[in-house]
Amino acid sequence: MIPPIANRFVASETSAVALEHVRQLNDRNVAGILNLLGEHYETRPPVRADAAEYRALIRDIARSDLEATISVKPSQFGLDLGGDVFRETLADVVGVAADHGVFVWIDMEDHTTTDATLDAFEALAREHWGGERSASGHGANGAAGGIGVCVQANLRRTREDVERLADVPGKVRFVKGAYDEPADVAYQDADRIDREYRNLLEYAFNHYDDGIAVGSHDPEMIDYAIDRHEEHGTDFEIQMLMGVREDAQTDLAGEYPVYQYVPYGNRWKSYFYRRMTERTENIRFALRAIFGR
Ligand code: FAD
Repeated sequence: MIPPIANRFVASETSAVALEHVRQLNDRNVAGILNLLGEHYETRPPVRADAAEYRALIRDIARSDLEATISVKPSQFGLDLGGDVFRETLADVVGVAADHGVFVWIDMEDHTTTDATLDAFEALAREHWGGERSASGHGANGAAGGIGVCVQANLRRTREDVERLADVPGKVRFVKGAYDEPADVAYQDADRIDREYRNLLEYAFNHYDDGIAVGSHDPEMIDYAIDRHEEHGTDFEIQMLMGVREDAQTDLAGEYPVYQYVPYGNRWKSYFYRRMTERTENIRFALRAIFGR
């Protein structure tokens, strides 16, 4: 059972309740991105278990009339184990999702995982949706669903990655970056990261036909994306986390596609503590939940 403090950020321990949360989001015109919490597995059983849970979730989404996608983490699918475990597990889940017309996002973890994550994304995107880049994920071979990957504005390499991804048939989620990274690979200064974020969006709105996802709660970044959309006409979507600026999510959904990232599962503690350490506002919220207003 998720305690009241954490259930602002984590939907539930079970997929059934998480899917019901997405149904309520859909009533507000917001779509869901379901994430089964789990990362950095060092043995195969939890990798196999999470892949099985995702396959079942994909079938549940396909059977429902919900606007929902899934998002997976490379280290949840065995990246830390080495060998082919990650590639094979991801390929298996993406294959099932493609068969059922469900979109798959790949989260980006720390910089040591970027190459393996982008390589796997590109290979699967070309295999299933080969041909033109497509926001809907409906590629040249007619397969439904689609695949997307996240890129982080704090990493110095990301501009090159964003250029490389321009002709890959999938979506790209732009975020500022959640991991503490060393200065030789990542910008450390918040203003610099914001500047990079804007530059990356400028490039994408200019060079991508579609498939841009703005993964940010920052009103300045969202306004910047809206301006670029109006200037270039390129479609985009906005993605925010469950429990963060929910009123803004509903307001924006009146005009643009908005997705809420909905984590669930029994490994909720580390995700919850990360949200707590990210912003004092979240800590204040937690204290209010414990001590009243
Ligand atoms: P910040 O720079 O944290 O804040 C900027 C402004 O946004 C604030 O001044 C405020 O105006 C507003 N704001 C931010 N938070 C709040 C709040 N709690 N309440 C009210 N206003 C607020 N990172 C990764 O490294 N890999 C991933 O795969 C990844 N996936 C993500 C998916 C989604 C859908 C989202 C939304 C984020 C993801 N992130 C990921 C996290 C991301 O990298 C950032 O760490 C996180 O989003 C914080 O940056 P920000 O752009 O939201 O705004």
